[in-house]
Amino acid sequence: MSRLNFTLEKEAPNSSARAARFQTLHGEVKTPVFMPVGTQATVKSQTVETLKATGSSVLLANTYHLLLRPGPEVFKKFGGIHNFMKWDGPVLTDSGGFQIFSLPGERVMNEDGARFKSYVDGTNYMLSPESSIGMQRTIGSDIMMVLDQCIPSTAPYAEAEAAMELTHRWAVRSLAARGDSPQALFGIVQGACHHDLRKKSAAFLRELPFDGLAIGGLAVGETHAERYEFTGLVTAHLPKNLPRYLMGVGTPIDILEAVHRGVDMFDCIIPSQLAQRGVAFTSQGKIQLRRAVYKFSEEPLDARCSCHCCQNFSRAYLHHLVKADELLGWQLLGIHNFSFYHSLMREMREQILHGDFLAYYERKRPELMKSDEDNPVNPPKKTRLGKPRHLGDYDIVTSEQGFSSIRQISSGEVMHSVSSPSDEAQRLYIEQSRLAARLVKNEAAPAEELVIWDVGLGAASNAMAAIQCFETQYAEKTGLLLRPLRIVSFECDLDPLTLAARFPSHFPHLRHGAPHALLEQGRWRHASGLLEWELLKGDFLGFIETAPPADLIFYDPFSSKTDTGLWTAEVFKRVRAHCGEKSAELYTYSAATSVRVALLAAGFFVAEGVGTGPKATTTVAFTRDVGGEADAGQRAPLLAADWLARWRRSSSKFPPALAEAERAAFEKLIESHPQFAGLR
Ligand SMILES: [Zn+2]
Repeated sequence: MSRLNFTLEKEAPNSSARAARFQTLHGEVKTPVFMPVGTQATVKSQTVETLKATGSSVLLANTYHLLLRPGPEVFKKFGGIHNFMKWDGPVLTDSGGFQIFSLPGERVMNEDGARFKSYVDGTNYMLSPESSIGMQRTIGSDIMMVLDQCIPSTAPYAEAEAAMELTHRWAVRSLAARGDSPQALFGIVQGACHHDLRKKSAAFLRELPFDGLAIGGLAVGETHAERYEFTGLVTAHLPKNLPRYLMGVGTPIDILEAVHRGVDMFDCIIPSQLAQRGVAFTSQGKIQLRRAVYKFSEEPLDARCSCHCCQNFSRAYLHHLVKADELLGWQLLGIHNFSFYHSLMREMREQILHGDFLAYYERKRPELMKSDEDNPVNPPKKTRLGKPRHLGDYDIVTSEQGFSSIRQISSGEVMHSVSSPSDEAQRLYIEQSRLAARLVKNEAAPAEELVIWDVGLGAASNAMAAIQCFETQYAEKTGLLLRPLRIVSFECDLDPLTLAARFPSHFPHLRHGAPHALLEQGRWRHASGLLEWELLKGDFLGFIETAPPADLIFYDPFSSKTDTGLWTAEVFKRVRAHCGEKSAELYTYSAATSVRVALLAAGFFVAEGVGTGPKATTTVAFTRDVGGEADAGQRAPLLAADWLARWRRSSSKFPPALAEAERAAFEKLIESHPQFAGLR
């Protein structure tokens, strides 16, 4: 019986990629998974907290190094590595074989094992299959590896065969040494770059009671093409019901290729080692922060990343830290690189589970092979004044106060023209709707999903303000206390968001993975699973009856001058009807009499919203009578007698298209609205 209770969840069509999960002594592991390398019971430059924040779930530790220092007695005293380093998640230990066979220094090898001298204090050690397992049992890892004989992947046939045979005999001895320990144990397929040896090794090991199987001896001298070929060859000969681990691999593109070929688990020092050298993996390719082009760069490292580094620091600051050889530079780039790796793994897993992996793989390959697209090392000859600041019918305008907005060229209309887009989103939509308080579970609606309609996605200011509100609540409260949130954005033209996303320094709210995922896949999900954001692309009027009914509506399309069809009583009537019994609230920047009267005619209860920037007032509409609450100051105050008097005198008293004959009936409809009962 396997000690990991391995479950194969899904196999991707037309690819060998698979999503699985298994249970260790310290929690569940979901694959494909990347394991940061914690050689000395620490992942260099990271704390347990930063590792968790980046999404790390399993760590790898090196038996060889821990055997020499601090030594088994320390692990015995502390009851194992988890308590020693204060990491409560799963740990995998290698056997020490790789270090003994690859590090320089004296060693004598025979059937029993390998004898070598410690680099720490010169003491002689004997590492055998039994002593390696003994040390791993003392370390208390969740997954142990057998001792194997590592040789270069380019080794000739006879040498590779002898090493493989020895590895097989050691595998049997390792299983015996494991005894009744609850720790899992993986075998290692060897055979260098020889087809029949690799097949033979896989066939031999799969008959033994291992809890998983690893592919060893790759990433040590072969070409990339050979590595991909042999990875695929071996996984084809491994059982489906055990996890598969490709040892020591690799770069993001190597990992993508190996997942496509059926591998579940990875480890590599690259994300941390490159961080130390000032190199980061980003959605725009691999970036060397040491380069002078970043000296004044205000941009985040990766606008699509929501890690601590990208959310807080500029490339200029990271450039400075790297140049000055400051430890913080290594740590911050490490945080980003681990976040990049783990989000790649999460993304692959989601694509496999959704059955879309092959298309994703084709799309992702060129992206992962890019190198600093925005600032190429050899820039194209033509003089570039920067990226074009317009797209389709839209361009970027910068106000006197210094904030940037998107303008529709044909109408001249500027989105959020009067105050910075994020300030307006915050005040008008997030604060006024008391979103933060609504996200907290209460007795009335313990776990009911909250639905927000974001009508007119634009440059995603309002949706991102809602997401940031959720993320703040999520960080402050525990996820258990929050209601699930669904944001549905309606938009027929994605050019404004696409354009804004190219200039994250002008639109700081887009320094987040969500808008980029929305543009590429039409949806984004928060890691907690509690927040879903989806895009309904097309005419809003076509979606009203099919979208999930809203609790809150952020009504922010272009004005009635530009987008006349979206502001009529007929449209508002359909919106209100679709809300049904739900008590819904609509918020909009418009305070126009024509808009308010259209809402009233549709049956909404209409109130005066907060002002924003130079705008004295905006509009809030309720599907239900909230008169009492409004009086108590809980809600925006309903329009009352003074507004009604102004309306009677207004030049926009009637909808523009209303026939002369229908005016009297319309007048009666407004005058008899329950909201005005008692005012007459
Ligand atoms: Zn980042």
